[in-house]
Amino acid sequence: MKIPALIDCHVHFREPGLTHKADMETESAAAFAGGVHTVCEMPNTNPPATSVEAFQDKVERAKRIKNVDVRFFFGITELPHLEGLRAVWADPALRARCCGVKIYFDHSTGNQGASADVIAEAFRVCGELDIPLVAHCEDAHMNDEAKRVVTQDIGGSGVALHSLHRPPGSEAQAIEHAIRLARQHGTPFHVAHLSTMQGIDLVRGAKAEGLRITCEVAPHHLFLSTQDYGTLGTLGKMNPPLREADHQRVLWEGIADGTVDCISTDHAPHTLQEKQIDNPLDAPSGVPGVETMLPLLLTVAAGGWPHPRGERCIESFTIDDIVRLCFANPNRIFRLGKDGSDVITIDSDAQWAITANQLHSKCGWTPYEGWKVRGKVV
Ligand SMILES: [Zn+2]
Repeated sequence: MKIPALIDCHVHFREPGLTHKADMETESAAAFAGGVHTVCEMPNTNPPATSVEAFQDKVERAKRIKNVDVRFFFGITELPHLEGLRAVWADPALRARCCGVKIYFDHSTGNQGASADVIAEAFRVCGELDIPLVAHCEDAHMNDEAKRVVTQDIGGSGVALHSLHRPPGSEAQAIEHAIRLARQHGTPFHVAHLSTMQGIDLVRGAKAEGLRITCEVAPHHLFLSTQDYGTLGTLGKMNPPLREADHQRVLWEGIADGTVDCISTDHAPHTLQEKQIDNPLDAPSGVPGVETMLPLLLTVAAGGWPHPRGERCIESFTIDDIVRLCFANPNRIFRLGKDGSDVITIDSDAQWAITANQLHSKCGWTPYEGWKVRGKVV
């Protein structure tokens, strides 16, 4: 069967500056092989896409990528970056490549955390110019405090502590803060990689209130939980972290009732060497996912479940849901202007096992190694 080529509205392709992990060519090949022909790439490269020059450089680099349409988020970590944003938005050629603004409430790869006044000003300007604003929602102070208490009371160095260092309440606090700002400034606001039941409740409430709020969830939060640290080790370390299985079930409820608008991968490759550092808690956060999203979801649409030990979390899920979550909604939210005429052909009966050596990302590993899936891009 044929469906529109998918959109992944949250990827990190690491170019420029971090190309030992990944680059636009390798990761676009991974996207294309996974049925994803449009991606929205995040600003935490080196240099970060927080100035007109850095943004323009990424747009120029993307011109050599022919089979994947790479759009870019503009990053805001300091007040002067908002002037750069205004300049990009005023330039038709650059604006056409800009899918919105990304801000971080907490530090992740690239130390892009912004202070409260910068965050508030970004919501105000994006409200004024009607620019989609995406936020990584974790409260930096709550995370710092949780880490301090856990280190003092429990100690140890196991990677599972990562989930205790970044508790669900931290995400809820940041989303609440963001919703207040979006309400105040009329900002079109999108929650990145929402991972908790509290987050789902907050977004559901904000939508009921009529605010312009949308959200995405990532395959690793839909298919993995803290129970997977034993198998994955640091390959299961990402931000926000893996959650207890009860959160995972509520994310699927959010998909079923329409609270969740998009599934996007937060494709964030690091090398195996970087991941397999001596102290697990020092390993960089992030997992690849752009090539494996569609087969994982097609397996659910075929009535199965890809996790070798996991239980199915949703009753009814169809290929139409995949098209809604991974094409129609991100296309609308980020105004990508896709008409659906670029299609992919799917063999929904093909059964195969995911193995990293068949995948195209430069990083050479996947958290879904050996998983049996049903459905493949032809
Ligand atoms: Zn990300």
